[in-house]
Amino acid sequence: MTFRHAADPVAVTADNWIHTSVLVLNASYEALDEIAADRAVVLIIGGAAEAIADRESYFAIRSTRVEVPLPQTIRLRRYVYIEHVPHGGDQSRATLAGVLRRDRHRCGYCAGWARTVDHIRPRSRGGPNTWDNLVACCVACNTAKADHTPEEVGMRLLWQPKAPTHRAKQQRKIWRQLAAGHA
Ligand SMILES: [Zn+2]
Repeated sequence: MTFRHAADPVAVTADNWIHTSVLVLNASYEALDEIAADRAVVLIIGGAAEAIADRESYFAIRSTRVEVPLPQTIRLRRYVYIEHVPHGGDQSRATLAGVLRRDRHRCGYCAGWARTVDHIRPRSRGGPNTWDNLVACCVACNTAKADHTPEEVGMRLLWQPKAPTHRAKQQRKIWRQLAAGHA
């Protein structure tokens, strides 16, 4: 999804408001992230956040019960603790669930729906359980590849798997904490 900033000359309309981005501040007013406008509105309606700045031109989002002006900046009512991660990638151990989530269940070889994870360099050849050696894989590709490297069976990776970024991990952490606090 591409986000549009409020400063953009494009007017907010019923068709594009969902693609605008909203700045999220922690309860301590520290900037955390930018999120899609529809998520921001959900946080406001659910009481997890308050709008502290609306768009310059008033634009109302209507749900069945309430009307909320499209915000530009929101502040979480509850402090969310985000640990400092020193650099770049996630150094944690790769898990099956983690790899599927990182690759959004898309097969690394055919982009089809993936339920399994492939060791790019096979385990039988010493391939490690690391983020860059694991990729989401559909059953058909996994069966075709078996105990081979992609080159040996003429398969090509559609992207180079890497550890999830700090940003992706941070976003998930924010949503998990908010979900826990407002269940
Ligand atoms: Zn596949």
